[in-house]
Amino acid sequence: MINLTAHEGISPLPCLCKGCFERAPTEASADGVEFRRVTARADERELHAWVPLSLEEKVPMLVKSMEQRLGRRFAAPWATLDTTPLVARSSPPDTSGAGPRPPPAEAKPGLWSRLRKLFS
Ligand SMILES: [Zn+2]
Repeated sequence: MINLTAHEGISPLPCLCKGCFERAPTEASADGVEFRRVTARADERELHAWVPLSLEEKVPMLVKSMEQRLGRRFAAPWATLDTTPLVARSSPPDTSGAGPRPPPAEAKPGLWSRLRKLFS
């Protein structure tokens, strides 16, 4: 099995990439929420994710969605499998010429918005 989970350096939960997976527990908690590890497998590839215990009943749906991602990856090797949603591209470019701006407050979506994306 090839672990395709992206390395996550800033998540409050243990990273599940191939380099960190052996050290990761099967359950973890963050912000007072208990999470369980789930794994999707397809075509000799696997993808791991943390799911809140409160969403336990949605695990089969999530795993199916992850397996579809793996399947798409297999069909289109150029596609990214990173489960991090892309930062919104809909905002128009800044053409006001106001000079350098501070970076967005949240350059990377938070854990919960990523989970919502996974379950959408
Ligand atoms: Zn890692």
